[in-house]
Amino acid sequence: MRKSTEIVVIGGGATGCGVIYDLAQRGFRCLQLERGGLSMGTSGRFHGLLHSGGRYVTNDPQAAVECIEENMILRKTMPHAIEDTGGLFVTTPWDPLDFADLFYKGCLNCGVPVEELGIAEMLQREPLLNPKISRSFYVPDATVDTWEACRALVATAREYGAETLTFHEVTDLLVDNNQVTGVVAKNRITGEETSIDCDMVINATGAWGGQLAKMAGCEVTVYAGKGTMIAMNYRMVNTVINRCLPPDDGDIIVPVRTVAVIGTTSVRVADPDDYAIEDWEIKLMMDEGEKLVPSFKKFRPLRVWAGVRPLYQEKSEGTDLRDVTRAYTLLDHATRDGVEGFITITGGKWVTHRQMAEKTVDLVCRKLDTERLCQTATTALKNPDGQKYYTLGERLHHLESGELKGQLICECELVTRPQIETVMAQHEGNIINDLRRDLRLGMGPCQGGFCTYRAAGILHEQKNLSAYETNKALVDFLQERWKGITSIMWGPQLRQALLDEGIFLGLLGLDKLPAELSGVESPRLGEVETEGIYEIGVDPSLEIHD
Ligand SMILES: Cc1cc2nc3c(=O)[nH]c(=O)nc-3n(C[C@H](O)[C@H](O)[C@H](O)COP(=O)(O)OP(=O)(O)OC[C@H]3O[C@@H](n4cnc5c(N)ncnc54)[C@H](O)[C@@H]3O)c2cc1C
Repeated sequence: MRKSTEIVVIGGGATGCGVIYDLAQRGFRCLQLERGGLSMGTSGRFHGLLHSGGRYVTNDPQAAVECIEENMILRKTMPHAIEDTGGLFVTTPWDPLDFADLFYKGCLNCGVPVEELGIAEMLQREPLLNPKISRSFYVPDATVDTWEACRALVATAREYGAETLTFHEVTDLLVDNNQVTGVVAKNRITGEETSIDCDMVINATGAWGGQLAKMAGCEVTVYAGKGTMIAMNYRMVNTVINRCLPPDDGDIIVPVRTVAVIGTTSVRVADPDDYAIEDWEIKLMMDEGEKLVPSFKKFRPLRVWAGVRPLYQEKSEGTDLRDVTRAYTLLDHATRDGVEGFITITGGKWVTHRQMAEKTVDLVCRKLDTERLCQTATTALKNPDGQKYYTLGERLHHLESGELKGQLICECELVTRPQIETVMAQHEGNIINDLRRDLRLGMGPCQGGFCTYRAAGILHEQKNLSAYETNKALVDFLQERWKGITSIMWGPQLRQALLDEGIFLGLLGLDKLPAELSGVESPRLGEVETEGIYEIGVDPSLEIHD
């Protein structure tokens, strides 16, 4: 197939979605390509924190200023994706006492609103925090739902005429006489290849940025910095809790909807697609959690996952990775490498994606010699049902008042059959994972034990799938869930896993299905390898901090 457009954006994370939205709003004809679903790279594997910038005020002031500017803007443009939790920076007995004053001054210097709280007041707000904490500062941290945000960015871009193709992997860039003239993309579901002619290509592939730039013959060094996080099954704090010390491992707990997420580690990996979660990371997270919340280990770890930070370095040699900035980088490959029609935007943070997009599209305008004002800081994103930030309590209320009708399919996250049917109608694939991202199906304490087979039944009926396709969707989903619990199987989580095994293997006999009915040779939970978190290339001595 052959297509043409003005500008192609590669990457469907926060940055790519921000860029396509900005381009479309400024009236460019544009098309976005993502090899998976939206926000399935680092943007869907992050800590969920809408930074106030507090974390960077002492060691990376430029990143701190970018964070606070964007934090304030995004609260207005995508309120339905943000929960205003606020944030605390606290000095525990393990933290350097003199850092608190440096932190306070740093906040003032970078324009991050800060207020010191007495310990009694802090404990009144967050009773489970360590009573031995000696100082506590309140800042405007918040949390953000990346799925909601990216969906809204792309939906708004579509209203301005943009096109987004998910599950389309760019396999080559077309270069003619040092000018990028298009891309070749492969549909990962059908295998079909499409060539797209364009005037300009924007590389917004995050940690994959170096691989993509190579297709145009450009050398770009983006280190992949792996970070591991654990979701605990209880929202033990309602405020984002940061240790008041220079960025370190396991020093932040983020309340995300019904759970609390501790993170992160920070280790350089050789390949952004190939890394493992290590036992030492889990132990470290659990130990560090206990320093902030002394009862931390009494709660149940629900799920563990990792993502890879895109950390740009102009030169690949002789750099201390501890100093890699969290600020973003925009590269015009015409001036840098003599390759026209090609721009890379990388580094940064989720919270700075809008500003990254604005600077990128400003550069596009300069290169195409056209003046078009950026309006993304002042326009609210599309939110068709006028929905608010979702809370489980609200879903319960809607269920009890009869507003939410139909069979209850996921008891943990209170998802009903009509909700599932609506979301299924919006997606082309047969992937139960879409239901997880859109509705949080399977994300609760049972990790899909009870709802997955029910959802598979609805999928089979609604999409007229064959037994093979339905079983494959079911096994794929279970495998994804399984990857996140293998490293934290002890206590109640182990009991839960055994119960799930009883349901899927003992009762439903998934491991006994012939290959032609399941899509996998030997569908034992945990044995079927799907892409994602797998070994090699980790050098734990190379540490970097988010
Ligand atoms: C552990 C961890 C915790 C973090 N926590 C926070 C936080 O709390 N707050 C915050 O603000 N930031 C946080 N960050 C940083 C933030 O998540 C990233 O900076 C941001 O998500 C990067 O977005 P992106 O769109 O640039 O990259 P990505 O989200 O990775 O998007 C790039 C996309 O490009 C796609 N792609 C790659 N190659 C191709 C190809 N050939 N063809 C088509 N598509 C391709 C990938 O599939 C991917 O979806 C964290 C990062 C990590 C690793």
